[in-house]
Amino acid sequence: VTPTRTAQISITVEPLPLKTAHPFAISYGTTDIHQNLLVKLHYKDLVGLGEAAPAKYHAETLETAEAALKILSHAEVLGDDPFAIAEVSRRMDNVVAGNSSAKAAIEMAMHDLSGKIASLPTYKMLGLSGHLQPITDFTIGMASLDLIEKKTEEALAAGYKILKVKQGTVNDREIIKRVRKVAKDIPIRVDANGAWSPKQAIEMAKFLADQGVQFIEQPLPKFAPVEDFRLVREHSPIPIFADESVCKSIDVARLAGAIDGVVVKLAKTGGLLEALRVIHTARAHSMQVMFGGMIESSIGVTAALQLQSLCDHLDMDGALLLAHDPYVGARYDDGYMRLSDLPGLGVVARVGA
Ligand SMILES: [Mg+2]
Repeated sequence: VTPTRTAQISITVEPLPLKTAHPFAISYGTTDIHQNLLVKLHYKDLVGLGEAAPAKYHAETLETAEAALKILSHAEVLGDDPFAIAEVSRRMDNVVAGNSSAKAAIEMAMHDLSGKIASLPTYKMLGLSGHLQPITDFTIGMASLDLIEKKTEEALAAGYKILKVKQGTVNDREIIKRVRKVAKDIPIRVDANGAWSPKQAIEMAKFLADQGVQFIEQPLPKFAPVEDFRLVREHSPIPIFADESVCKSIDVARLAGAIDGVVVKLAKTGGLLEALRVIHTARAHSMQVMFGGMIESSIGVTAALQLQSLCDHLDMDGALLLAHDPYVGARYDDGYMRLSDLPGLGVVARVGA
């Protein structure tokens, strides 16, 4: 498995438009077509796959991701060693700031490529188990109250065992009551996507605790002061997680003591290596870890799931929300996301896609 240092790594970038089965609404807006980008790294006769899922609320668009990938495609950035992932990562940070989803696409493709060269799944390359994974939740987006009730019924009928409910409307309490009316016993968590003030968040936390909700994700806006998070945490009967407010490991350290857990996403960390640092930093501060994703194909979802044995909660339903997933990777199996034993990320194009 020693790579010869003669071949360069080259790259191609293609559009990867994805359509969700239903319009997906969160507090930032509604959309049903997601313009992601497919990254292929070519090395000898092998191809490593990666996916960029740019989102406005992470300060990226399709256009900025495309522009970033152009710069990141330079031979001096990608180099000639498919195993030197940390080096490629550092060179990417040196030539372009931010643009984490674009960097994540290249970084996950590097993991895929190196795993294929070594004939090992990426999680094994990282010294991890493919098992011991938590059950994933399924997200109920914003909708009319009747539609929310219907979506909850459908989710239960489909066998989902944990629900995540989007909040940040004028109907937040009513939404939870409608979900609870149908889903009486199963665990529920909520995501406010930054929609509440500290006062609202504290009031909602008490109400949600009474409704048997497990924890609250991102009650306050992305750039809310640390002291506001601390205040909400002190008055909340249930744990407070940060998603948008935590991108890199340095953000975990900044919010230490003010939150109970962090949501890790490759589109924020810029790849698996920084995701590992986020997890370890969170553990060092006795925080819980949830893994989440974007609306993305099985490439992005399966890349993140390589680290699932390290987290407490999984919110990895991004590919399950799609009308059509052009790739096959981790498979949903009675609540679990099962990784394959194929080398690299273990993702292949869906036959007939
Ligand atoms: Mg979230």
